[in-house]
Amino acid sequence: MSNVNVVHKVRQELQEKVKDVKLYIDGKFIVAESNEQFDNIEPFTNARINSVASGARTDIDKAAKAARKAFKGEWGGLPQQQRLDYIYKIADSIDRHVEELAHLESYDTGLPIFLTKKMVSRASKNFRFYAEMVSSQMYGDAYQVDDEFLNYTIRKPVGIAGLITPWNAPFMLETWKIAPALATGNTVILKPAEWSPLTANKLAEIIDEEVDLPDGVFNVVHGYGETAGASLVAHEDVELISFTGETTTGSEIMKNGADSLKRFSMELGGKSPIIIFDDADLDRALDACTWGIFSFNGERCTANSRLYVHEDIAEDFVKALKERISNIKVGDPLDEKTEVGPLIHTNHYKNVKGYIELAEQEGCEVFQGNVPEEHSQGNYIPPTILLNADNSMRVVQEEVFGPVLTVMTFKEEEEVIEKANDVRYGLAGYVWTKDIQRGHRVSQAVDAGMLWINSQNVRDLRTPFGGSKHSGIGREGGYYAFEFYTEMQVIHVAIGEHRIPQFGKN
Ligand code: NAD
Repeated sequence: MSNVNVVHKVRQELQEKVKDVKLYIDGKFIVAESNEQFDNIEPFTNARINSVASGARTDIDKAAKAARKAFKGEWGGLPQQQRLDYIYKIADSIDRHVEELAHLESYDTGLPIFLTKKMVSRASKNFRFYAEMVSSQMYGDAYQVDDEFLNYTIRKPVGIAGLITPWNAPFMLETWKIAPALATGNTVILKPAEWSPLTANKLAEIIDEEVDLPDGVFNVVHGYGETAGASLVAHEDVELISFTGETTTGSEIMKNGADSLKRFSMELGGKSPIIIFDDADLDRALDACTWGIFSFNGERCTANSRLYVHEDIAEDFVKALKERISNIKVGDPLDEKTEVGPLIHTNHYKNVKGYIELAEQEGCEVFQGNVPEEHSQGNYIPPTILLNADNSMRVVQEEVFGPVLTVMTFKEEEEVIEKANDVRYGLAGYVWTKDIQRGHRVSQAVDAGMLWINSQNVRDLRTPFGGSKHSGIGREGGYYAFEFYTEMQVIHVAIGEHRIPQFGKN
């Protein structure tokens, strides 16, 4: 069978297999209380995939009741090892469904299948990693206070964790949150992004059919941010909100959660610089720069969307970059050969296109790769570079979240540090130089949560993940997750006859 036919067959099978999506509450798949649904659209064709139950306040109420019951009941009472056995079971089940989950994710989001296969495989690692972290690293401290006290700390689950996730790498980002939340003993209400509901639903099916988690431990309420999301944030019984999404949404959520004094973790937008000095390994820097902005269709929070290349090497580097861009394989997300697929939704497509038009008006020269003509029905933006950009432009200051790279040059180290820091975001940064002292110096001077020297974004689950400035609050990953998903308690034990004031004693 030719490649085109193979892909066609995969899409047809998906079309036949994917059913309407319901809410998953208290171990049951149910319609929304309002009976309302919304259409889910395929980015490659802009055709309707299915209908999705549109949850709102009453559905969040139901989920919170179920989650509370489980927390107070069976789940909360489980010995740690039995709880972690469930976490390992979830990982094993995901492994059995990698192929199917990856196809659903590409179908739903437009992310290339070569990428979603890797991301889904990593999702099961998230569960195993946190099961291991909890059994080996979640412990307290003891404080001996002379011969009078022994004080010790323990970590307890917080309660109901509300998890709100975006559409750009849905399954991976959801499992980054679900795994530590459950492994530390909380119960979960997940509110997936409305544009990418399929893999969250599949996870609920897998858990329901194969893992046999106690009812109410894991709940999924689909719906719009303004209804389902906002109700989750405002709910009195939900103790914490872990949010990944846009900076403006994060700020709105913090306002809405203030009355119920929510605990927040915020993973927000980015506009990360890649700084390439004239002594860098230019071949590797080119690989990393191209990957860093065009992988995930450019819909990547840590994308290196601002290139600062030293002026002595700029001409050669840009020439090589243009060559790469012309060769990037833009295609059907279900095709194994595709490197860049369509953007998630027509609204987002229009937004990204608007930024490219604006850049042109602001004086940028636009250079773009190619989109095959037969894909004109999809939300395709070709890989794009914006030359002659500068920091005063909106395309340099604002998050475009598409396959669009702004290109700028620099002469001096101090100058480039200043330019790199001259945005409101501070998620990531990339520094390319063979001078190791300069590499450290510049990285430490960039105001961002995560820096890579001579590398693209390579993630180790043990290290802290998160941004500074308007890119986030708090860190995910490693034992840093315990700070967020657990409550620390200190127990003070008198071990001697310490003095107690004797009010009222004659
Ligand atoms: P978004 O903020 O529009 O939506 C994210 C989620 O929030 C969705 O589930 C949405 O329904 C929900 N939501 C929207 N309004 C809400 C409200 N008022 N109350 C509660 N929930 C609400 O973001 P998006 O467009 O889905 O995702 C793209 C953004 O996510 C980009 O800015 C990107 O940089 C960011 N992101 C950040 C990271 C990180 O780790 N820092 C990772 C991935 C994506």
